[in-house]
Amino acid sequence: MRYTSTRDHQVSKTSKEAIKQGISEEGGLFVLPHLADQTLNIHELLDLDYETIAQRVLMILLPDFNTDSLKKAIHFAYHQHFSDDRITPVRSVGDFHVLELFHGPTSAFKDVGLQLLPRLMQLALDPDDRVMILAATSGDTGTAALQGFKDVAQTGITVFYPNHGVSPIQERQMLTVGSDNTRVFPIAGNFDQAQSAVKTLFTDTSFAARLQAEQVTLSAANSINIGRLIPQVVYYFAAYSQLVKAQAISMGDEVNFTVPTGNFGDVLAGYYAKSLGLPVHKLIAAANANSELADFLATGVYDRNRPFLKTVAPSMDIQISSNLERLLYYKSGEDSAYVAHLMQELETTGRYQVRPDVLTAIQADFAGGFAVDEEVADAIREVWHRDGYLLDPHTAVGYAVQQQYRAASGDNTPNVLLATASPYKFPRVVAKALQSHVPDDDFAAMQMLQQVSGVPIPPNLARLQQLRPQEKVVVAPTDMGQAIIGAAKEVFNDDQRVRSGNER
Ligand SMILES: *Cc1c(COP(=O)(O)O)cnc(C)c1O
Repeated sequence: MRYTSTRDHQVSKTSKEAIKQGISEEGGLFVLPHLADQTLNIHELLDLDYETIAQRVLMILLPDFNTDSLKKAIHFAYHQHFSDDRITPVRSVGDFHVLELFHGPTSAFKDVGLQLLPRLMQLALDPDDRVMILAATSGDTGTAALQGFKDVAQTGITVFYPNHGVSPIQERQMLTVGSDNTRVFPIAGNFDQAQSAVKTLFTDTSFAARLQAEQVTLSAANSINIGRLIPQVVYYFAAYSQLVKAQAISMGDEVNFTVPTGNFGDVLAGYYAKSLGLPVHKLIAAANANSELADFLATGVYDRNRPFLKTVAPSMDIQISSNLERLLYYKSGEDSAYVAHLMQELETTGRYQVRPDVLTAIQADFAGGFAVDEEVADAIREVWHRDGYLLDPHTAVGYAVQQQYRAASGDNTPNVLLATASPYKFPRVVAKALQSHVPDDDFAAMQMLQQVSGVPIPPNLARLQQLRPQEKVVVAPTDMGQAIIGAAKEVFNDDQRVRSGNER
């Protein structure tokens, strides 16, 4: 039960090493071979609460962690940071179910992974380790990672986001964390440029040496880190258990999950759940107008040679779905040489095509689709007027694709739509779908939305208006390495924790 790399099967790591390191030396992602060898007994789920389900899942996927430590880490992450006791409650809305993943401290699903990852990281560190967490974000990862890692001993965190590429609320969430060990930089570029630069830094040995001089190593908070991905497997089981308890399904029935998708982390966690024995028929990956992934699931060709589009669902404005690499590993029969070859092609030509047998294996578990901005607005309006439920734009992408899928396939399997953010995180987009005159200011739009819907604003978002954001320091993608070295020097300066201009 050791982790290997998607690009080199000779790599062998414990799960602690994999979490600490984030990404494998040669650029591959850590994966657990023979995923389906272990299963979780779903008949026991009914009697278990969220934390206990989390323990069961983590004991299988993180086998070298001490059970008692895991239990404490899970309790610490979830017992008071979520506004619903079920952590990820399921609601029935019209003829489908919504799995609400946005009750954590930043009102987006990434909190589920990023409240637990720092605890797992702490358990994985040796006493004199000092780790700088790096994250490139399309908005929600950065915010959730900053909240998760702030003030965690032996760690610092540096977040890069595309300047003008995240929503005003997301930007304000990031620029108001301001803790001694957190640093945030807008970059002059888009998300994929930020993500590629981060990935390159991870495999740059001279950069590693410069950090080593500061006695600091790097790790990742993006969903390429298994310590972030694995906590997300839990809510698929928790959702199933809630559906059975509510008698919406019977134990053993298959369900579909529709997942708003960007980097393919969330929906891949659903595949892990299926591999561990959850009765899932199809995982439906829903993309926005950046439809590379949807096209791949239909044709087996991944082609990113097309314009990058900014949409109303910015956390999914992604052209390279990194975690797809893990699925390619499993569906090619764990053929790391083949995956390395595909990833090399992607890097040099921006395109690859998988073998027919690989595509068939993928399509057995996955369907895909995409929705453009207009369809997103229609979805928000339709579900509000028909069912009285407010969707955020990302969840609305999922809803639109779920409807397309049903109409095209005739598949009537009960469907669970993953709600990945609170509608108040993107208030102007949501309000515009419902009203003709919407204020330019996000906070005024939040108020308007609350008056229209009667749904309360989450306190963490309401509070933002009073906080003063730090000054923006825009960094060129080529200067990201230098920014990290500077951050490491400041954060890990033991004698005096230098307060930089980055913290007001
Ligand atoms: C990150 C994010 C997604 C996409 O999730 P992936 O794991 O990257 O596929 C969807 N919706 C919201 C609100 C997000 O923050």
